[in-house]
Amino acid sequence: MIFSNLIGQDNVKHILSEAVQSGRVRQAYIFNGPEGVGRKTAAMDFIMMSTCDTQTACGNCTSCILCQNGTNPDVVTINTGKKASIGVDEIRALENMIITAPEYSKYKFFIIENSELMTLQAQNALLKTLEEPPAYAVIIMICSNVSALIDTIKSRSTQIDFARNTRDEIKNVLFSKAGITDEDRIEQICDFSDGSIGRSLSAINSEEYTKVRTQVKQLLDKLANAPSDEDGRVYHLLQKLFNDNQEKKDILFYFLMLEFRNLLVKIGVESNKVDLYNKISYYKVAHCLEYTERTWKQIKQNVNYRLATNSLAIKIYDEIRKARTKNGQNNRNSF
Ligand SMILES: [Zn+2]
Repeated sequence: MIFSNLIGQDNVKHILSEAVQSGRVRQAYIFNGPEGVGRKTAAMDFIMMSTCDTQTACGNCTSCILCQNGTNPDVVTINTGKKASIGVDEIRALENMIITAPEYSKYKFFIIENSELMTLQAQNALLKTLEEPPAYAVIIMICSNVSALIDTIKSRSTQIDFARNTRDEIKNVLFSKAGITDEDRIEQICDFSDGSIGRSLSAINSEEYTKVRTQVKQLLDKLANAPSDEDGRVYHLLQKLFNDNQEKKDILFYFLMLEFRNLLVKIGVESNKVDLYNKISYYKVAHCLEYTERTWKQIKQNVNYRLATNSLAIKIYDEIRKARTKNGQNNRNSF
């Protein structure tokens, strides 16, 4: 079954199937795209098709069976292991293995996972292999940030770009494969998935997902509604939310931004009634969203998490608590 595991990505399926069927499999590929959209699945399907006796991923020939069992000696995976990057040692290991011809088919595949994490030295070492690879060798670099690869590697490789999954594709997986029937939950997970089936599946299995969302909602409610003599406690809770969830920061920031956006939509509708008070609130929430988005961007660029979130906590606290105090109300809609 050709590309039976890969969901969507029709363009990718087309390019790779054609390469196998026309006998023009290239020697180096960069499978570029966000995490969780099927890059590794595409690689495995592509390999199964290429190494199959009938080039159809028949599922019955020796190569297919070995591929399905994950024991095909002609498929080698390189990754960071427990390290933060892929260094020269891993590429040397690849060089040692690439000289041995394949056992079961005309190709021998090397998958480099997280190839954007190759050090510069590793990339230069790999470049030597890419300059004169044995005819049977095919190297697939799985990559989420192609700009981290040096130009000389890119120019020797065929880049295949993976699209984000569509909402329908994700919904379908959640419904038919994960067995989720609650429509609200499906919508929520789709929101969180950011166009990645992998990310949506990790959310289902994660209790943390629900836990963090509840924490965010409760805290925003306290920020808006707690009486002013609880100011100190509320501020402390806001800081605690950031500190406790450092390991789950992508989930935390996702929900913070989602809740602020939801509030904007809600207040925006109400401010159509030309309610000055709600208009002011609208801008305050918009500021909170802007601060949060900016901080998240900085954190992704490796700014110190504690410093960045401490500063964000102060800004959110100021915006929302000032709004509440100024209007002297403890009403959720006054947020
Ligand atoms: Zn087969």
